[in-house]
Amino acid sequence: MRTTGVGWQAVRGGGKPDGIEGRRSMSNRFIGARQTTIAQAIEVHGTGVHSGAPVSVSLYPASADTGLRFVVTKRGRVTAEIPAKVCNVKNLTLCTVIGNEDGVTVSTVEHLLAALRGLQIDNCLIEIDSKEVPIMDGSSAPFVEAIDRVGIRELPAPRRFLKVLKTVRVEEGESWGELSPHSGFHLDVEIDFPSPIVGQQRLSLEMTPGVFRNELAHARTFGFMSDVERLWKAGLALGANLTNTIAIGDDRVMNREGLRDPLEFVRHKMLDAVGDLSLSGHPLLGAYRSVKGGHRLNSLVLRKLLEDSSAWTIVHAPRVRGTRPFVFERTAAVAVAAE
Ligand SMILES: [Zn+2]
Repeated sequence: MRTTGVGWQAVRGGGKPDGIEGRRSMSNRFIGARQTTIAQAIEVHGTGVHSGAPVSVSLYPASADTGLRFVVTKRGRVTAEIPAKVCNVKNLTLCTVIGNEDGVTVSTVEHLLAALRGLQIDNCLIEIDSKEVPIMDGSSAPFVEAIDRVGIRELPAPRRFLKVLKTVRVEEGESWGELSPHSGFHLDVEIDFPSPIVGQQRLSLEMTPGVFRNELAHARTFGFMSDVERLWKAGLALGANLTNTIAIGDDRVMNREGLRDPLEFVRHKMLDAVGDLSLSGHPLLGAYRSVKGGHRLNSLVLRKLLEDSSAWTIVHAPRVRGTRPFVFERTAAVAVAAE
């Protein structure tokens, strides 16, 4: 296995402060060299966007090389463990659904996975006793805030990256997506909706925890009023409302508070891409470009990359000398509830 220096400028740099407790001491070292987990357990309560029912999810610290892994429980018993990997993706119609061969599924995983990957958390057990992750406010911000409250711990093991070695591209009609070699993790996302409210938007960012936190985490999911009735008739999006979705009418945003940002739509699509690409199982070293894409395209590009063993490799971060990692410890859970 090849070991190489992996674009530390990109991994380290963020420009803006991160706000994670303990981050300052970490930022003096090679951020990104070691695997991480959350410092304490977290409980998050909210509503399922599809079922409309109250749902909750608990995040637990996990040891090195666990990855991001869903633990599905029923009445306190574990019924399935599903690694957050693209091979376990079952459905991408409206949100990302992962599942196992026995038909156990968890849906709407993408905003939580985006928060974990966006903050460079490698290992976490995500325990859930329902079929979907709470939608919260439709963005990753509540998950980021919850993680910030407990902090991030480094583990002794070196971080492993999935490094893109050659360009892979998927085209579907007017949409296309491409992963190509890059020393950091770069995203360039373009959307173009036939709506005067959304229109064409493009954003290109070098992704770091600081950039994720400041540029993407707050961006909410969005939907068109014209689609709502169709979804409700199909028994979908029963929990979607103006507290968790930007609703787009013919000529205006229906939410009284308006947009959080003029580019909120493309920012959300980029947030989705961070979550979808986390299903590679490792932080990516590569540049992703998508035009008129979505969950399906993101997943297809990632699958195409992984299917070609000459298109990627796993690289280890270099050893960090003279520093000791944070000590792993598990303490009391912190509860966070949606408003
Ligand atoms: Zn989304």
